[in-house]
Amino acid sequence: MRVEPAMTIQTSVIPGSTRDPMEIALLRGLRVEPAMTILKSLISLRLFRARRMVHISVDNEVANGLLRGERSALGGLCPFGAIEADGERVGIGAACKMCLVCVRDGPEGLFRVHETGHLRTDADKTQWHGIAVYVEQMEGRIHPVSLELIGKAKELAGEVGFPVYALLMGDSLSEQAEELLHYGVDKVYLYDYPELGSFLIEPYANVFEDFIHNVKPSSVLVGATVTGRSLAPRVAARLRTGLTADCTKLEMKENTDLVQIRPAFGGNIMAEIVTAGHRPQMATVRYKIFDAPARQTQKTGQVVNCGIPQEKLTSRIKVVATTKKEKKKTISDADVIVAVGRGVKSEKDLAMARELAELLGAEIAATRPLIEAGWTQADRQIGLSGRTVKPKLIITLGISGSVQFRAGMENSGLIISINTNAGAEIFNASHYAATGDIYDVVPELIRKIREGAGA
Ligand SMILES: Cc1cc2nc3c(=O)[nH]c(=O)nc-3n(C[C@H](O)[C@H](O)[C@H](O)COP(=O)(O)OP(=O)(O)OC[C@H]3O[C@@H](n4cnc5c(N)ncnc54)[C@H](O)[C@@H]3O)c2cc1C
Ligand code: SF4
Repeated sequence: MRVEPAMTIQTSVIPGSTRDPMEIALLRGLRVEPAMTILKSLISLRLFRARRMVHISVDNEVANGLLRGERSALGGLCPFGAIEADGERVGIGAACKMCLVCVRDGPEGLFRVHETGHLRTDADKTQWHGIAVYVEQMEGRIHPVSLELIGKAKELAGEVGFPVYALLMGDSLSEQAEELLHYGVDKVYLYDYPELGSFLIEPYANVFEDFIHNVKPSSVLVGATVTGRSLAPRVAARLRTGLTADCTKLEMKENTDLVQIRPAFGGNIMAEIVTAGHRPQMATVRYKIFDAPARQTQKTGQVVNCGIPQEKLTSRIKVVATTKKEKKKTISDADVIVAVGRGVKSEKDLAMARELAELLGAEIAATRPLIEAGWTQADRQIGLSGRTVKPKLIITLGISGSVQFRAGMENSGLIISINTNAGAEIFNASHYAATGDIYDVVPELIRKIREGAGA
């Protein structure tokens, strides 16, 4: 079954059903590198303003005219595994990225491109005001990502003269609501009900929706935590608006469009995504991307106690028991990190990095290739598909500095990198760059630290 897009994000480069057919036509038949060059110039020139929604359909008559074996083989045509073909029927699934390979390479007339209308650009932006932050809490403890988002919301709100709102839901949270007033929010909207004591997706999404309908914030920021990642898409789908996951940067335009920036196309480009025709604009951001504001002694703003009909608080899910997971220290909590990359030639050579880490009281972290090689545990991976870290000091050893790696560490306090290649990308993100062989530099560093410590 084809799933129609629930949201319409206007973007220069984002793949999916909202890509401009002209853009797709340019991409067809091109090798990746020239295509990327064109995409990059599309972004800077902002050539394509008029956006249309398109989708692929299957012509059943053509499909029925194929042999059973031919129909089954169609699945292999799609690089994204979106063609559902079992010999009997042929369909396009939700994984379709609109790459048009099936239209180009499939049996003639079987796969067709349809334009389903222009994207909406008609949201009355004057009706939507303020930047809201969903404040995540568990048993009354506010997740630090919420404070980081409040800090960013204040900065963005300052650009357009918006107020900052906090949305807090749970049970017996009046103290926490008052506490949030120390971080510079203008209003804390509090939904305080026993039914909201545990995170249950249905009542939480109902409350979120109620808040959006009543307050009409222009932008909504949610932490990219397990809870936020389940709640935000559900709310965005209900509101039929856009949501950008895992933003690494946020900017505000004068017209109140939120520029949601994140790596795309496997990290080859930074996509600037705007939800130009819809409100609210929704984005999730990971923990440790932004800085939390300092707690002020004086409170500002006010707490607004909100009501919601009782039936909105019911859930088909019943929490039978809650088992606490043992809190494990992760690399995200570390103050000092020694990160290793492919410059380390063999697994046994990790010993020198471990020795350095031990001397500095640091945690060891790694790039993805080392995790894939099984040299260290997966929860020690820094980056887009790993963890985000913001230590006071990070020393990178033999790491090239791919976009995906930097996305997880470039906000660190002090970055020192050692690489044989003077042109390594990591040096652009580093405060101190040492061009050299880690096999020379690290033992020397260890020796100097030991000497300094009098060991
Ligand atoms: C969708 C997607 C998600 C990804 N997510 C992540 C992620 O979360 N985290 C991640 O790390 N990667 C991720 N990657 C992989 C990423 O693109 C890079 O391949 C990876 O980060 C490269 O790791 P590296 O720097 O260790 O290796 P390389 O890029 O091979 O760099 C090795 C570096 O070591 C230097 N070097 C070699 N020998 C020495 C020496 N003796 N002394 C000093 N320097 C030396 C070289 O000059 C080079 O710069 C992802 C990729 C994709 C497509
Ligand atoms: S080949 Fe491309 S356009 Fe066709 S179904 Fe797969 S992703 Fe969609």
